[in-house]
Amino acid sequence: MKKLQTFLVDSHAHLDSKPYAADLDAVIERALDNGVGHILTVGCDLESSRASVDLALRYDNVYASVGIHPHDASTVSNALVDELARMIEAVDKVVAVGETGLDFYRDRSPRDLQEAAFRSHIQLAKATGKPLIIHDRDAHDDVVRIMQEENAGDAGGVLHCFSGDLDMARKCVAMGFYISFAGPLTYPKNDALRNIARTLPIDVMLVETDSPYLAPQNWRGKRCEPAYIRSTAEKLAEVKGLTLEDVARITSLNAWRLFGIGEVDQSTRIAYVIRNSLYLNITNRCTNSCTFCAKFRDFTVKGHQLCLEREPSVDEVLAAIGDPSSYDEVVFCGYGEPLLRLDLVKQVAGYLKQKKITVRINTDGQANLVHGRNVLPELAGLVDAISVSLNAPDAATYQKICRSEFGERGYAALKEFLVEARQHIPSVTATAVALPGIDIDACRRVAEQLHVEFRERVYNEVG
Ligand code: SF4
Repeated sequence: MKKLQTFLVDSHAHLDSKPYAADLDAVIERALDNGVGHILTVGCDLESSRASVDLALRYDNVYASVGIHPHDASTVSNALVDELARMIEAVDKVVAVGETGLDFYRDRSPRDLQEAAFRSHIQLAKATGKPLIIHDRDAHDDVVRIMQEENAGDAGGVLHCFSGDLDMARKCVAMGFYISFAGPLTYPKNDALRNIARTLPIDVMLVETDSPYLAPQNWRGKRCEPAYIRSTAEKLAEVKGLTLEDVARITSLNAWRLFGIGEVDQSTRIAYVIRNSLYLNITNRCTNSCTFCAKFRDFTVKGHQLCLEREPSVDEVLAAIGDPSSYDEVVFCGYGEPLLRLDLVKQVAGYLKQKKITVRINTDGQANLVHGRNVLPELAGLVDAISVSLNAPDAATYQKICRSEFGERGYAALKEFLVEARQHIPSVTATAVALPGIDIDACRRVAEQLHVEFRERVYNEVG
């Protein structure tokens, strides 16, 4: 089993459950052996909330959430909510409120009491500044309605073991919530859930086991435990076209952002790995100011922090690359326009080509306007592939969404760049982000007219 560089976080387990009474130390040890660095154990009633807090105090890598499950909603009173508040106040390692929500599948508490208890938990989360852990079973519309009515987005949180549809997931993400996947992601018939995972950006996802329930397919029907989360994370990696390491890094950052648990390295990267490609972050400057650019919200790409305090030198880039021989390719990309640093690109690409490394550049295609000359002959022999962000079928639309500093001239220049690139670069691709309202087929037709490849990129999925 390959050792992970980044620990996984099991964002939802019930370690106080009876099935662990005899071997909890061993369960936690196995979790660590399988790369699970931190576990959030979640209370379901007052007793299990207290037990969860005790476990968080006993084990360094365990954190707790306190709340009353909708099954026990009929026990919720003002006094009980006050008691939960005191537990949150008393122990730093209590990091969330829940699990709460609605369960209209088992209906173990009257629905009106479930709704009232859910509202109380949302108010508690807002009052204490802790995120919510929401349970939803066959109550999708009502869960979303109550979240909206109570402004649950002010607290944030996660839809644990998500079982809704894509529309619900999008509504929850729009309110600032994360979506968490458990063992059912691995179940052969669960294509609908995998489609949701495929469609949403991974920046809003967590992974969990819901131990001792819902074991992944390999252990289905048996007692689940946090060590098995690796199986769910591997499935998520497969669905997203990423590596397990990528999923561990990204979902652990998400857990850290939401709950403040775990350890993440947020130092700025000059070179960073996604899948088996090494990306180079050499500038944050750009000739465009795209409306959809994620750097205006957050400089993180697939868990890597890319905000540069200053632009690296050639020597610093080479040092960050290290030995490039094990990568499929090295890509000049980052959150900026790499060809603004043409001289550095040529020097570094020359070094990489000496080592027979495949080199790609992702660009906005306006380098010839920037440098006042045709720069493509200078890249011949240094670059194997170039991806140019087309993003629109015409100049006016392009300027509206990409906001080139060159105005509508930018679009004409990038089309000329694509045509010229064919003379000097073996592989030339125009790309377009599938933004709402953008006619992707029209973009594809532009690429066809220019005789270059075309690739659609998923909106909100960076890197
Ligand atoms: S070209 Fe890329 S880096 Fe520049 S603003 Fe647009 S999306 Fe952001």
